[in-house]
Amino acid sequence: MNQHINDIIESQRALFLTNATKSIDFRIEQLRKLRSAIQANEKAMYEAIDKDFKKSEFDTYTTEIAIVYQDIDAAIKHIKEWASIKKVSTNAANLPAKSYIVPEPLGNALVIGAWNYPYQLSFAPAVAAIAAGCTIILKPSELPTNTSSIIKKIVSENFSTEYFAVIEGGVSETSLLLNQKFDKIFFTGSATVGKIVYRAAAEHLTPVTLELGGKCPGIIATDCKIDISAKRLVWAKFLNAGQTCIAPDYLVVHKSIKDVFIKQLIKEIEASSLSFSNGNYVQIINEHHFDRLTKLINKENTIYGGNFNKSERYIEPTIVSAKDFDAEVMKEEIFGPILPILEYESLEELISKLKKLPKPLACYVFTESNDTKTKVLNELSFGGGGVNEAVMHISNIQLPFGGVGASGIGSYHGEAGFKAFTHYKSILEKTTLLELNLKYHPHTDFKFNLIKKIMKWQ
Ligand code: NAD
Repeated sequence: MNQHINDIIESQRALFLTNATKSIDFRIEQLRKLRSAIQANEKAMYEAIDKDFKKSEFDTYTTEIAIVYQDIDAAIKHIKEWASIKKVSTNAANLPAKSYIVPEPLGNALVIGAWNYPYQLSFAPAVAAIAAGCTIILKPSELPTNTSSIIKKIVSENFSTEYFAVIEGGVSETSLLLNQKFDKIFFTGSATVGKIVYRAAAEHLTPVTLELGGKCPGIIATDCKIDISAKRLVWAKFLNAGQTCIAPDYLVVHKSIKDVFIKQLIKEIEASSLSFSNGNYVQIINEHHFDRLTKLINKENTIYGGNFNKSERYIEPTIVSAKDFDAEVMKEEIFGPILPILEYESLEELISKLKKLPKPLACYVFTESNDTKTKVLNELSFGGGGVNEAVMHISNIQLPFGGVGASGIGSYHGEAGFKAFTHYKSILEKTTLLELNLKYHPHTDFKFNLIKKIMKWQ
């Protein structure tokens, strides 16, 4: 395996050095090829993901494939503009001259995917890498085995490995890859593995994008519109059975509306028909995660639901109570269909508690009050999020998607993705027709006074 990986990396390095991946026409051709290849394999992709964890065509298209198509289409439409040289003004001290920024592909990229949205999290970063002009080694998550092999099939049937290769596997294959030098590593996954990736990247001073997770809060203010808020939150939480990095991990509901809000959540869960039989619910990815999740449910904390079935890897939508932020269910990212409810009385106190926690990937506030919204947006740091909405911000590729602090480094989708795989080279181009001689010795008082004035003009 090691030799196989080395050979692919060497061939990708050699290809990049020929400049072949840099032309805009080449990039557009590859983006079109990937779009057609995915389109031609859509049916097989639906079958594979259904086998892995019973994800429906509807959910697979709307939450995965459509997002990849959006990224491809946006890149094809805007790539010339994104990749064009940007002129900027020149400061007085350098005149007469031109100043401009030249975008260049970082080079050989490694993309490591997570399992929960396997198509989107593998292909969307790859699209960004193609648009930027990089070569790509993609390592999809090994947990959904059928999706991993269809991803490999799509790529290997349409691209040469010296340009775009898929290496399947788990920890040992990823570790072999991480021992190598890349020009960019784009990782999606847990913070624990994110640190392993970051350490490996540091060995080669390789820039990284780390798309990590965390516990994303939903803040439910006393003046929220209860019906629509509960409806949106139930959808966002139980989509993909809660196995969504930006799912509301828990809700903090104002004490005055807590009981009525819980009633409305239950009503919405019951109206949502979250079941395998109608394709509106998915399995927990494997037994390890099933066992981890079911340990969080007990008789004392269950408000609603709480039933599960190991052979089906089914956990029903469950609401649990959490007394405070140190409850067991508040210790780790849940990443499953269990929704803890906490209460608060003072927004100031809640914000000061949330500020002490690791910065989440997303935060959601449900309120009709401008003051509440502004306070949350101004005072809390988080990757991205929504006001009166949850999860949907990812579907707008105008919004860079990524974390901050413990939830990640960097962002992508749309132009942000292009930027993630691009270096911006700053150039000062000077005329040779003139030399003001101010910077050269002898440094007279006249020159010094003049330079002081000139250096103020930007
Ligand atoms: P993970 O960290 O276990 O695995 C991610 C990738 O790392 C996989 O490809 C896996 O093979 C590889 N890997 C696992 N252990 C490794 C090791 N010891 N050394 C090297 N590589 C290793 O994450 P996961 O379970 O696939 O995904 C769940 C996590 O990902 C959650 O925390 C979730 O919030 C986060 N996530 C983040 C985003 C985002 O866009 N920010 C999206 C989806 C998931």
